[in-house]
Amino acid sequence: MSSKPARPKPGAQAKGCLREWRKYSISAGFVLLWLIGLLVIYRDAEQMAANTETKIRKEMGIETRAMAAKLAGMLERTYLTVKTISLLPAVRAAASRNRGDAAEDVVDEGHFSGDDATIIQQLYNHIAADVEVSEIYLVYDGFAPEQGQVPFLMFDEVLLERISTAHTHAPTHDADVPEEYEAAEYAEYVRQLDHLRRHAPRLPDEAPQGIAAVTSALLRTCDNSQYTSLANGDQRDSHGLLLSVPIYDLSSKAFKGLVTAVLRANVLEAALLGWPRLPVTELDRAMLAQQRIDLQSPPAEYVLENRGTGDRIMDRRSTSLPRVLAEQERAAIHLAQDVRLPYSSAWRLHRYKSAADLDRAIAPIRREMWQRLGLLSMLLAALGLAVERVFAVQRRSTRTLTLMANYDALTGLPNRRLVAEHLANALSRAPTASSQYAVLMIDLDDFKEVNDSLGHQVGDRLLVEVAQRFVDSLRASDQLLQLHCEAEPLDVNSSMVGRLGGDEFLVLLPEQSGLAQVVGIAERLQASLREPIALDREQIYVHASIGIAVYPEHGSDGPLLLRSADAAMYLAKRQGRGQTVVFQQDLDEQSRQRLHLLTDLHSALALNQFTLHYQPELNLASGQIDCVEALIRWQHPTLGLIYPAHFIALLEQSGLVLEVGQWALESACRQLKSWQDNHSPIKHLCVNVSVKQLAQPGFAESLQDTIRNVGIAPEALTLELTESMLMQHPEANIHLLQSLRKTGVKVALDDFGTGYSSFSYLRQLPLDVLKIDRSFVIDTGTPQGLAICHTITALAQRLGLKVIAEGIESAEQFCNMHATGSDWMQGYLIARPLPAEQIDPFARGFDWHAFRVDNDLLEHSPEWLPWPHRAPSPS
Ligand code: C2E
Ligand code: MG
Ligand code: MG
Repeated sequence: MSSKPARPKPGAQAKGCLREWRKYSISAGFVLLWLIGLLVIYRDAEQMAANTETKIRKEMGIETRAMAAKLAGMLERTYLTVKTISLLPAVRAAASRNRGDAAEDVVDEGHFSGDDATIIQQLYNHIAADVEVSEIYLVYDGFAPEQGQVPFLMFDEVLLERISTAHTHAPTHDADVPEEYEAAEYAEYVRQLDHLRRHAPRLPDEAPQGIAAVTSALLRTCDNSQYTSLANGDQRDSHGLLLSVPIYDLSSKAFKGLVTAVLRANVLEAALLGWPRLPVTELDRAMLAQQRIDLQSPPAEYVLENRGTGDRIMDRRSTSLPRVLAEQERAAIHLAQDVRLPYSSAWRLHRYKSAADLDRAIAPIRREMWQRLGLLSMLLAALGLAVERVFAVQRRSTRTLTLMANYDALTGLPNRRLVAEHLANALSRAPTASSQYAVLMIDLDDFKEVNDSLGHQVGDRLLVEVAQRFVDSLRASDQLLQLHCEAEPLDVNSSMVGRLGGDEFLVLLPEQSGLAQVVGIAERLQASLREPIALDREQIYVHASIGIAVYPEHGSDGPLLLRSADAAMYLAKRQGRGQTVVFQQDLDEQSRQRLHLLTDLHSALALNQFTLHYQPELNLASGQIDCVEALIRWQHPTLGLIYPAHFIALLEQSGLVLEVGQWALESACRQLKSWQDNHSPIKHLCVNVSVKQLAQPGFAESLQDTIRNVGIAPEALTLELTESMLMQHPEANIHLLQSLRKTGVKVALDDFGTGYSSFSYLRQLPLDVLKIDRSFVIDTGTPQGLAICHTITALAQRLGLKVIAEGIESAEQFCNMHATGSDWMQGYLIARPLPAEQIDPFARGFDWHAFRVDNDLLEHSPEWLPWPHRAPSPS
């Protein structure tokens, strides 16, 4: 069989891919699950972030509106207070004259009455307590600061008192002197007077509604209500707004001056922060601390913008607002709200949240998302591992179960189930017309002997070795199915060696070109057993009987094909050891008969169907029939007398040989006893025994019992064991024979020359007699054959063995074997095996002289007379 390249099988690749995919499907499933989880968590987090942003935006909107309202309140209340003062009759009626210098007192100079001054002061106190307005000035038209004029500063006394308190309790900058700075402020009065004169020259009719107001840009004021210095203070704390409303003459209602409130920028900044004030002095800090104001709180996000002046007021601590306003940083949220005032729409409140701040607000959501993601990953990984473990265990147990179900545990070969399945699969794809499918049924010869004599462990090891040899010899050129390859699908185009059980093997051979190829493979298998198998110290020779059947000629399906191969194998067995037989139709009939015989054999002993015939053995020394060989016969009720060749093998295989052999032994011994008692010339008896009997535990003892019970001398009995059987396990059998000989019975090696025994074993085996097989006797017709018989006989006799020549059919053979020096002759020439009742008369009536005369033996060798026998001369 030529080895063929592996052919691509239809669908095999797809199945392979599917198997590969299945391997990763669990992991893939978990990755998918993880991705879905990831998506859900991400979307959830995004939704939450969006919700949070919306919420923040909403809250910011509410807060911004509230803040705008608060700022509007502050500015409006300041405006209302200043307006109220401007509408006081005293202020309106007062002379339109400014103070000549700072020393001029408001009351003392008679500008206002004391009561009027008190009213104005109370109004100031009222607004200053609410909005930290620093000062209120009255400036009349024509104000000329360049001439040293100063405005009417209304409340010097109060303010000075405050400053002195601040100084006493909390000096701010030790080395600094408070700075007064008036130039910008005075210039602004002049500007505002001019503006109001032009744009609001008369008291409106709807007054007090509709009275204008004017707001300055942020400027450095001369307000010293808070301590500042150029050296150490924050410039921003000296900046302020001048919020002014016009004064109209009481009688003419014409513009005549203005009332101004100085509102520091840091007051508005504090309002944006929600603090009562900004900490400028230590006293401020102490106050704020007392009110538990957190000076480290996050910066406010508001920017108060005056669109008229472009001024912006914001939390000075904020680093991001200036950047956002400079467009260096993106604001994630920007809200704008007008600060609604009755006199101005310039103010607008902005609120910005930088992207970084918003991210900070959303950061916990993202953190939570990562945590959930981590948790999910861990959970899925743990679950994945657990599932993978469960599947791995399942895969392992499935693999083990498959192995157990399909492979033979001992040899690792496919078992009966798998072989049958493979065969059925292969046959279902009808082999091509150009090729044949063959099966080889193999049964080891006499394997049971190995088990019986050497034990099952040795038997097992032998089977393993045989299996390996079969596999090796097939693998040499066939595409042989691997052992233990359960993961792969079986390729019907591969050969297969399987073990059916016991010592039975089956070989499946697809795509054979013809019978010759199949027989060639069978021969290769036989050849693989030629070398002995070394187990322990034993060298065991194994042979196999092989039956061949070919599809479809010998069977149209698997079971029929196997039956045919089985029948061929049994025929091979019957033909001797190590034979190969190809199935033929009539074999089927034979195997049926064999089955019938086997069935009948089971009851034959009980039905008393066995009988013994005896064949005489002529003692050449005495010329007497002094010994006979007991030969079993089966008197079959329908088939008639059956000879051992047809049933001994069946007895051996079925194990019936033990009972039947014992029966033959006992019957023959009783017969001998009867002859001896009747003074028959028959003094000795040869009985054939199977090695199976010999291997029975306690055989020697049971033999002794038999002899004793029957009452014959042990040395009158010779047990014959065939050479072929003994030589299967010579070492083990030597021990058995030794214990047998201790009983006193003699041992003969039967059919010598057919069992390949070496002469060295002949020396070691404890024997008494050698029976030269008929095939050698026939060969004595040739000089070489004769020489061999001479040598064997001489050697045997040197070893102290008696020699019996079997199967003497002719005078020539008689003479030849006589010439070699045989001690006894047995064969049809003397007599065929006879029933017991005939053999004794035959022995008594045997006339040596007449025998020779009748067979012309005298002519052949006249020197034979006188007897006794001469020692043969070595050839
Ligand atoms: P065996 O022990 O070698 O017995 C001699 C066989 O040769 C006998 O065959 C006998 O009839 C035959 N024979 C004797 N002289 C001639 C001759 O001149 N020409 C030819 N052609 N044959 C001759 P049988 O009786 O058919 O027995 C066959 C074998 O069966 C025996 O061979 C023996 O091995 C076995 N056998 C017979 N009886 C028993 C038995 O009770 N137990 C066992 N275990 N085996 C037995
Ligand atoms: Mg015999
Ligand atoms: Mg024989």
